Amino acid sequence: MENIFADRKYKLATLRSTRTKSKTAKLEAETQYVRCPECQADHVSATLAANLSVCPRCGYHLPISARKRISLVLDRGTMRELFTNIRPKNPIDFPGYEEKLCQLSEKTGLSDACVCATGTIGKTKVICAALDSRFLMGSMGTAVGEKITLASEYAKDRCLPLIIFSASGGARMQEGIFSLMQMVKTSAAIKMLSEEGGLYISVLTHPTTGGVTASFASLGDIILAEPGALIGFAGPRVIEQTIRQTLPEGFQRSEFQLEHGFLDAIIPRGELQQTLKTLLSLHRR
Ligand SMILES: [Zn+2]
Repeated sequence: MENIFADRKYKLATLRSTRTKSKTAKLEAETQYVRCPECQADHVSATLAANLSVCPRCGYHLPISARKRISLVLDRGTMRELFTNIRPKNPIDFPGYEEKLCQLSEKTGLSDACVCATGTIGKTKVICAALDSRFLMGSMGTAVGEKITLASEYAKDRCLPLIIFSASGGARMQEGIFSLMQMVKTSAAIKMLSEEGGLYISVLTHPTTGGVTASFASLGDIILAEPGALIGFAGPRVIEQTIRQTLPEGFQRSEFQLEHGFLDAIIPRGELQQTLKTLLSLHRR
């Protein structure tokens, strides 16, 4: 006679082993270490996450995901993601691009490098967009450009403040001229928001470079940055090779850019939500 419990026994055993495995995996995950790229100190990843991914020893701001970045400034439970149907295309048939997009999408849970969401900050309704450096260095292709444009239009149509967190290597090479066109498109959308009297706060994080610096990231009514972020168009190495001169210490870092009038303020990650609350209350219409 067939043992009708055999299968159940097997299932229970599998379940037990999965539970034990997931417990072990959880413990392992909790004791993972992350090395600070600045001071080389090792931190328990959970401790570092609790400190908003800012090194407790030297204050270095490690990259965080776009969703995390938005959730850190919005009032708890108010975040609602928008424009999730916008997906990247391969307009110039760049070899291997679609496969790369699939891999990154699976790895990051994102459809491209930009996340847009509405929510409130100190009860003021806002729209936020954030770039995610894990997705092709937060580069701007057609999908990123479209989302930034939609976010600006959303802010304009509903009279909401717009906050964009940049973290980008620039325009996306794999989309050729179509990615460069996004610089014009996003800049025009920001201009239209500005003409309607809308408020746009740009927050620059490490690194903000290339076509993103040369378009919407530099167009904020107020431009803030995280400490130590690299902000520029071409990187320091390219400039050194071009002008054949050694650049000064800290060139193109937030502190350098603040001193040279490119930024309004440098705000540490832990103080950003409070700073935004203050700025929004001062600019309430
Ligand atoms: Zn450190």
